Amino acid sequence: MADKTSGEYDYDLFTIGAGSGGVRASRVAAAHGAKVAIAEEYRVGGTCVIRGCVPKKMLVYGAHFAEDLEDCAKFGWTVEKPQFEWTTLRDNVLADVDRLNQAYTETLENHEVTIFDERAELTGPHEITLASGKIITAKHILIAVGARPHVPGCDGHEMGITSNEAFHLDAIPERVLIAGGGYIANEFAGIFNEFGSKVTIINRTDTLLRSYDHALRDRLLQISMIKGIDFRFHAEFRGIEKTDSGCLKVSMTNHDDMEVDCVLFATGRVPNTEGLGLEKVGVELGKKGEIVVDRFSKTSIDHIHAVGDCTDRVQLTPVAIREGQAFADMIFGKGDPVAVDHNCIPSAVFSHPPIAAVGLTESQAREQLGSIKVYQSDFRPMKNVLAGRNERSLYKMVCEGDNDRIVGIHMIGPEAPEIMQAAAVAVKAGLSKADFDATVAIHPTMAEELVLLR
Ligand code: NDP
Repeated sequence: MADKTSGEYDYDLFTIGAGSGGVRASRVAAAHGAKVAIAEEYRVGGTCVIRGCVPKKMLVYGAHFAEDLEDCAKFGWTVEKPQFEWTTLRDNVLADVDRLNQAYTETLENHEVTIFDERAELTGPHEITLASGKIITAKHILIAVGARPHVPGCDGHEMGITSNEAFHLDAIPERVLIAGGGYIANEFAGIFNEFGSKVTIINRTDTLLRSYDHALRDRLLQISMIKGIDFRFHAEFRGIEKTDSGCLKVSMTNHDDMEVDCVLFATGRVPNTEGLGLEKVGVELGKKGEIVVDRFSKTSIDHIHAVGDCTDRVQLTPVAIREGQAFADMIFGKGDPVAVDHNCIPSAVFSHPPIAAVGLTESQAREQLGSIKVYQSDFRPMKNVLAGRNERSLYKMVCEGDNDRIVGIHMIGPEAPEIMQAAAVAVKAGLSKADFDATVAIHPTMAEELVLLR
């Protein structure tokens, strides 16, 4: 049941930020009967829809055709001189982003959520001031402002781009240098490489994708190198200079300078919390500027909550959506406290090939549980065998030593994220290796390896 605010405040809920978390919370709160408004300074949909997961995945699909076209000859197909036109893909992707932006806007409107297309700041405990100067009051405030790319403060950094700009490039650069070794670096390395760019990843350590199991990271590195992606490790960015020929000269520690056509910074994301008036109203921020919240997404102020990337808990869209839903149900629904379980969250990296994982890595499990058992399948998918593509997949299951309860599954190979979603249910439910063994395989698939592990 909604708060029946009418009179004292303009709205029951005011949400700042119309990304995944903010839109879900606002829509659900409105469905519970609350009077809701939302402010968004850029575009409704947020990072995931406008310049993140969704357009990125479309580029991944577009990029993968390069390999399919290479492999198709072995399957009997002749395709004369395939041509790739970046602007066609780019414009189709951006058109779909427009469609989704419209769909998200309509969802809010259909729930009678008032949308303010402008920046909002807190100017009092219950008061929000919009960029236009309009002042609004609300009983509850939700901060869902997301995060933005972090760009190291080196000389010439303004000549680089981030993932935000990558979707709008005029042309695919011939030579790309990507700074960072995480999700975005590895995903865009795969995309640019398939489109024909010469890609170099530079990373400050020698560890890619730090949170993933070492066996998967090693396999991705090995396959990426075979595909032609170069890596420079222990390379800290020093600066970028423009050369007379218009190229970018990049200097870094421990390695020679490099000339490239594009520098992409993929060095993490920082919460978008500056200039929101949070400190003024007493909302506590952490060291990275993240909003400190409890299990129920409540900030240090009782009626102000925060969800999604700006809280820097788990920077993933489905997590922000769950946090937004839980908040709206708790405050405007039945009123029971609802905490999102941040354990055992499956995740994926849409690299070429993709990675997917859930639960503990082998080293985390060893450290936390002591006695563990690890089962592994290292195989060449049937499609790769016929195509003559020497690219092996790796599936790994980590179990608790005493009872064989599965504590982690880790996969790299075609469609790994699609397979993982179902496997993650089993891990979350606490199933054991014996439960997988008891399940009959679907043959011939890649996923059957999960029930045939020895
Ligand atoms: P990540 O945290 O994945 O990786 C950041 C990389 O940059 C790491 O290699 C890190 O090194 C390095 N780095 C961090 N700070 C600096 C610095 N100051 N100088 C040089 N290198 C630095 O961040 P991304 O930017 O790739 O992605 C941001 C977040 O977005 C991800 O954490 C993820 O939550 C989300 N995301 C999720 C995707 C998905 O679900 N498929 C796709 C894209 C993004 P080190 O390891 O040493 O810290």
